[in-house]
Amino acid sequence: MDTITLVTGGNKGIGYETARRLRDAGHTVVIGARDAGRGRAAAADLGVGLIHLDVTDQASVDGAAERVRQDHGRLDVLVNNAAVNSVVAPLESTDAADAAAMLDTNLLGALRVTNAFIPLLRESRHARIVNVSSFVGSFAATLEHDMFDWRVVPPVYAISKTALTMLTLRYSRELPGMLVNAADPGYTKTDLNDHQGTQTVTEGSDVIVRLAMLADDGPTGTYVSRDDVVPW
Ligand code: NAP
Repeated sequence: MDTITLVTGGNKGIGYETARRLRDAGHTVVIGARDAGRGRAAAADLGVGLIHLDVTDQASVDGAAERVRQDHGRLDVLVNNAAVNSVVAPLESTDAADAAAMLDTNLLGALRVTNAFIPLLRESRHARIVNVSSFVGSFAATLEHDMFDWRVVPPVYAISKTALTMLTLRYSRELPGMLVNAADPGYTKTDLNDHQGTQTVTEGSDVIVRLAMLADDGPTGTYVSRDDVVPW
């Protein structure tokens, strides 16, 4: 049976590469894109399905779930990949409205999309949810490494990923029939960091692809990178 897979923010970067690799692995992939033009171009390049999906817009999220229900009747793999790094400032000069907008995408976007798709994931016998988090959201890593300088790791971005990792853990407990895990792609060259990352998008997508393709006896409620378990 086909594996139906949705990747949010699939029009570029790590999401695009994840979509390409899961397509190559035989999944029926649909990418979600908030920008119609960029989405069309990416879906045409990849030869995959396209859904207009702005994770901050409930109507858009509900419309995407309805489209997948009509086209496929279920969802097997949800990759919550969409995110922004829009607030690059020390906390003391961070505007709360700007921080809220970033959390709305990086954290609540995953909540909105997951909740809209849970009924379709329940129709799958092998449901997997992969939340694309980051090492910079780890308490242990933040204490161990020098991540307190806002120019090294923007604090609101880090906070959004800490919360996304906890969201993952909580869903894993609420949804025992599904495998729900958080992925840390590692520092990857994309628009998100002005291509300063050290890894390729293929390396960055390794852990996401692995979690999307877990066997039925695979783990749930984990926080892992390409090579390691990420300390909470
Ligand atoms: P990217 O190239 O900037 O891609 C981000 C994607 O998210 C784009 O497709 C973007 O769409 C989409 N997006 C943003 N806001 C959205 C919204 N409201 N609704 C729908 N889509 C939205 O960044 P990336 O590096 O590939 O990031 C992918 C994931 O990896 C993110 O969760 C990021 O936090 C995580 N991550 C990245 C790194 C790294 O070093 N790059 C490290 C750890 C974790 P538009 O084209 O419309 O902007």
